[in-house]
Amino acid sequence: MARIPEEEIERLKREISVERLALAKGVKLKKHGENLLGLCPFHDDREPSLVITPSKNLWHCLGACQTGGTVIDWVMRAEGVRFRHAFELLRADIPSLEAFPEKPRGRQKEKVAKQSTTPKLPAVIEQRAADDVLLRQVTDYYHAALKQSPEALAYLQKRGLNNAEMLERFRLGYANRTLCYRLPQKNRVSGADQRGRLQALGIYGAKGHEHFNGSLVIPVFDGEHRVTEMYGRKVNDHLRAGCAWQAQQKGRRRPTRGPNAGNPTPKRQEL
Ligand code: ZN
Repeated sequence: MARIPEEEIERLKREISVERLALAKGVKLKKHGENLLGLCPFHDDREPSLVITPSKNLWHCLGACQTGGTVIDWVMRAEGVRFRHAFELLRADIPSLEAFPEKPRGRQKEKVAKQSTTPKLPAVIEQRAADDVLLRQVTDYYHAALKQSPEALAYLQKRGLNNAEMLERFRLGYANRTLCYRLPQKNRVSGADQRGRLQALGIYGAKGHEHFNGSLVIPVFDGEHRVTEMYGRKVNDHLRAGCAWQAQQKGRRRPTRGPNAGNPTPKRQEL
């Protein structure tokens, strides 16, 4: 699992208020000393047992939940997701989780409380995209992830490859296991469909994991700038026994048009 920079976690804890998340969940809060009290949205609460301390940006349920913590703990609880997913939801800076510029009042407050509180990350993949468009979208996603991943950039630096122009030109990317958070849920028709397509294209493996997890991803383009295949190289020195350093996209399509039609794509450059 790609490491999340500690400073990113701290930034989210600082910039997103628990109070805001509680309001988005429809919790009515009342001031009590330096705390705010409300009905806990995570259990059938009759007496206000949710305590929020704005000065520390922490929350706690004194009732049935007997738990609490930071904004990340809140999202984990509210959305039933793990730490990494909660982090990604908060980091994506989605409008429903943004801090209000000012406190909502009256009707505006009602409206806010009733809006959907199920956060969605922006989709990476268009539902009806053709295969080559879909591969391009995954390539772009990995490329953006690389630029935000200190561990992958450190690997490139170590290999003397940390050149901004080169990263752009070759659209190098990094698979940091977050692609799945940008797909519809597995149990939705659209989620199953997209995973199936990504599996057929070799982006996902047979067990439903991203094939290039933890790898620098090198896309290969044909003469018309379509991605014809991808290669991966793990950036971490400490691999589990039996885990390969290098991976090739499995079940990839051969180019159907252009100079490489029907042929295996050009040899991989050694990275
Ligand atoms: Zn509770």
